Amino acid sequence: MPTIQEARAFGLTELNGSLSPDIDVQYLLCHVLACHPTRLMTSPEMELSEAQWQQFAALIARRKQGEPVAHLTGSRGFWSLELDVDNSTLIPRPDTELLVSLSLPKLHDGMLAADLGTGSGAIALSLAAEKPGVHFVASDLQFAALKLAKKNANKHNLSNVSFLQMSWLGGFQPHCFDLIVSNPPYIRADDPHLLQGDVRFEPRSALVSGDEGLDDIRRITAQALDCLKPGGWLLIEHGYDQSQRVQACLRQTGFEQISAHQDFGGQDRAVMGQLPETG
Ligand code: GLN
Repeated sequence: MPTIQEARAFGLTELNGSLSPDIDVQYLLCHVLACHPTRLMTSPEMELSEAQWQQFAALIARRKQGEPVAHLTGSRGFWSLELDVDNSTLIPRPDTELLVSLSLPKLHDGMLAADLGTGSGAIALSLAAEKPGVHFVASDLQFAALKLAKKNANKHNLSNVSFLQMSWLGGFQPHCFDLIVSNPPYIRADDPHLLQGDVRFEPRSALVSGDEGLDDIRRITAQALDCLKPGGWLLIEHGYDQSQRVQACLRQTGFEQISAHQDFGGQDRAVMGQLPETG
């Protein structure tokens, strides 16, 4: 059977010309060998078993067809957590960690916060792990997403999160949340990027939001006005060219202290704003 070194070389040849062959091969090989990436460096002469080799070759073939690595391994790291992932939700992205870092300083013990369209639970669970004294409501319209998010909460023993199936803030009491955070769908329906790469394997309902990509952001902002407490914060992820329009939407709705934030690639990625202290 091939050694680790030979398996890597095989994977690189097969995925030659794709976006990130080296890192994909490493992820898939570590998944099959259930090992840390350093093992690939320290034991290049180790031989794979026949079962491991067959599994690896099958995963490389699927990756060659475009399937996302996170779907092939069934997991993805986000903030401090390793999350289970499947094709019912968006694959957690490093850019979305921006919402976690912006939310953390606003959260204090005894507060109630919501993560709308939680998907795999990435935002709510990362925050819940950092802030055990805050209670989180994680909502999603898709039952399959909530099932996955709950599984991830159990995996990390997080009990300060409740899960609810609903559309944005439709069913909540007025003025109940101290903070609302969301990574909603925000891609334009005709965006050609929907036909390329990993997004082809993700649910359209988690990606697309009308002609401008802003339908859901507008809905969430309008509903947040009723559901946030006075002084409450709204934090929203958006597309690289939507910052001005999202800021205007928050301003027109009555939010103050509005600020724009960039992701790790330097692109505009999130806007936050606060309701006036006295409603
Ligand atoms: N940032 C994602 C992408 O461009 C989209 C995520 C979303 O719509 N919330 O692939």
